Amino acid sequence: MFGAQLVFAHINELRMLKKLIHKLFLPCSTATLLMEKSIAKTISSREQKQLNIHLKICKWCRSYQEKLKILDDILKRKIQSENKTDSIDIQKFKEKTIKNLKI
Ligand SMILES: [Zn+2]
Repeated sequence: MFGAQLVFAHINELRMLKKLIHKLFLPCSTATLLMEKSIAKTISSREQKQLNIHLKICKWCRSYQEKLKILDDILKRKIQSENKTDSIDIQKFKEKTIKNLKI
């Protein structure tokens, strides 16, 4: 076999292996669902292991996971900044109300 044929044979083997792993372990639809579930609440250690194996072989899901983390960070920061504003507003309202009551 020539060098190029060997490379193509190897690439085909890798593709078949990836397809097999996707079917045996975890399809992409389940992997993305587990990623979202892991952000909302904890997933079982078995689910985490399956997800880790899937992420090692699937570049699309790795990319999805990165975007999901970025979105989650943005949302968390937004919620935190809104909560800070709310607590400051509540504190000001309390002080104003107490001041008005004393008069
Ligand atoms: Zn995937």
